[in-house]
Amino acid sequence: MPITEVDPSFPLADRRRGAAPTPPGSHQAANHGVTDAKQILLVEDSKVVGTLLGNKLCQAGFKVVWVESMAKAMAVLDLGRTDFFCAVLDFSLPDAPDGEIIPRLVARDIPSLVFTGNLSNTVRELAWGNNVVDYVLKDNPFAYDYIVATVRRLERNLTTKVLVVDDSTFSRQMMADLLRVQLLMVYTAGNGREAMAVLDEHPDIKLVITDFHMPEMDGFKLTQSIRQRASREEVAIVGISSDTDRTMAARFIKYGANDFIIKQSFLAEEFYSRVNQCLDDLENIRRLRDAAVRDFLTGLYNRRYFFDFGHKLFANAARKNITLTCAMIDIDYFKRVNDTYGHDVGDVALRHIADILAHRLRESDLVARIGGEEFCVLAVNVDAASVRTLCEELRQRVADSPLKLCEGQSVPLTVSIGVAVSGDAFSLEEMVKRADERLYRAKQSGRNRVVCS
Ligand code: GH3
Ligand code: MG
Ligand code: MG
Repeated sequence: MPITEVDPSFPLADRRRGAAPTPPGSHQAANHGVTDAKQILLVEDSKVVGTLLGNKLCQAGFKVVWVESMAKAMAVLDLGRTDFFCAVLDFSLPDAPDGEIIPRLVARDIPSLVFTGNLSNTVRELAWGNNVVDYVLKDNPFAYDYIVATVRRLERNLTTKVLVVDDSTFSRQMMADLLRVQLLMVYTAGNGREAMAVLDEHPDIKLVITDFHMPEMDGFKLTQSIRQRASREEVAIVGISSDTDRTMAARFIKYGANDFIIKQSFLAEEFYSRVNQCLDDLENIRRLRDAAVRDFLTGLYNRRYFFDFGHKLFANAARKNITLTCAMIDIDYFKRVNDTYGHDVGDVALRHIADILAHRLRESDLVARIGGEEFCVLAVNVDAASVRTLCEELRQRVADSPLKLCEGQSVPLTVSIGVAVSGDAFSLEEMVKRADERLYRAKQSGRNRVVCS
C-alpha cells in the first residue's frame, strides 16, 4: 500500500509551529493554539467529507489525524506514537467496504463513531454488535455538527461519574460496560443501600441508573433518598425494570426519576440516547447557572454573585467568629493599556490578571470581577498578617508577570490593593467600602502597593 504525502492543502497550523512530525500517510490538522488537545483518528476516503469534518473537529479544539483507508489507519496505530482519544470511521472504505475497520479499532480500545451513508439493519447490527459509541447517517444535514457534539461529549465524559445500581450481576455489568464505551467513570452497587454509600463517597456523581427490585433498598426508595439531597438539576436518575407493572415508569418519575427504561426491550441505542439526554440536560443547566453568576470575559464570579454569596460568607463569619478579609484590587493605569495596545489587548490583560488571582487563591475564597478593571476577593479564615503576605504576593506576582504579546512585545502590569477585615465592619458593604478607601490610598501613594488597616 503506497503511503501518500501529507496533504499540503489541509490547514497545518501545528506544522508551522514546528510540532512533532505527522505519522506517514496521514493528513494532520491542528486546532488553533491549544496544546493539550485530544487527538482523533479520522478514517474517510472522501476528500470532501474528510476536509469538512477534519476542519470542524479542529475548530472544536481537537487534533485530527486523517487517513483514507483501513491499511493506513492500522499503519498509524502500529507506529504507536499517537494516543487517540477516539476515532471517526467511514463505514465503507476502499479496502474495507463492509465495516471491517470497526472491530479492528474497537479491539484496540479506541472508542469509535461510525459515519455511514447506509442505514440497513445489517449496518446497524454490525455497528452496535461491535460496541461503537454511536453511528451517524451521512445524508443528515446536521451529521457533521452531531459528530462534533458527540466527540465533545466523550471528552466531558472522561470526568463524568455515573452509578449503576442493580442486584443482577449480569445487568449491572452489561450497563457498566456500555457506559464505559462512552468513556464515563462508572461506579456500581448491588442495592439502594450500597448505592447511598457510593454516593456519600462520590458526591459528584451526575447520573444514577437504578433497577427497581433489589434487596435491602429498592429503586423507589433509592430515588427518594437521592432526591432528599439533590434535585433533578444536580443529579439525573434513570429507572430501569423488567417488572410488567405498567405503572412502573410513572411511579419512578413521580418519585423523582428523570427517565425510565424497560429492560425487556433494552437496546444499546435507546439506552445511550436516554443517558446522553440526561447528561446534556444537566450540562445545559450548569451552563445557564454559570452564565448567570460568572463574568463572561474572565470566567470569575460577577458582581451580583459576589454580593449574594458575600452576604452569606459575612453572616457565617460573624456567627462563627471567623475572620473574613476583603481585598479590593484595581489595575494601575489600565486606561493606558487600552489606549496604547487597543481594547482587545486590554481584554486579554484582564483575563491574565484574573488567571493570576484564581490560581493563587483557595477554592474557599470568593474571587470576583466587580467592575471594569476592579476585582474583589473575600478570603475566609486568614489572619491579618497572612492576608498582608498574600496580597503582597499577589501584587508581586502581577508585577513579575508582564503580558506577553504575539509580536514579542510585553505589557507591564501592576495592581494596587486595599484590604479590610470583617472585624472593622458591621456589614459586607461597609467592609468593601473600607477596602475601597484603602485602595484609594494605595493609588494616592504611588500605586503598585498594598494598604492594610
Ligand atoms: P488607575 O491607576 O487610577 O486605576 O487608572 P486607570 O487608568 O486604571 O483607571 P480609569 O478608571 O481611569 O480607567 C479604567 C479603564 O478600564 C477605562 C476603561 O475603558 C477600562 N475598562 C473597563 N472595562 C473594560 C473591559 O471590559 N475591557 C477593556 N479592555 N477595558 C475596560
Ligand atoms: Mg432486580
Ligand atoms: Mg485602574
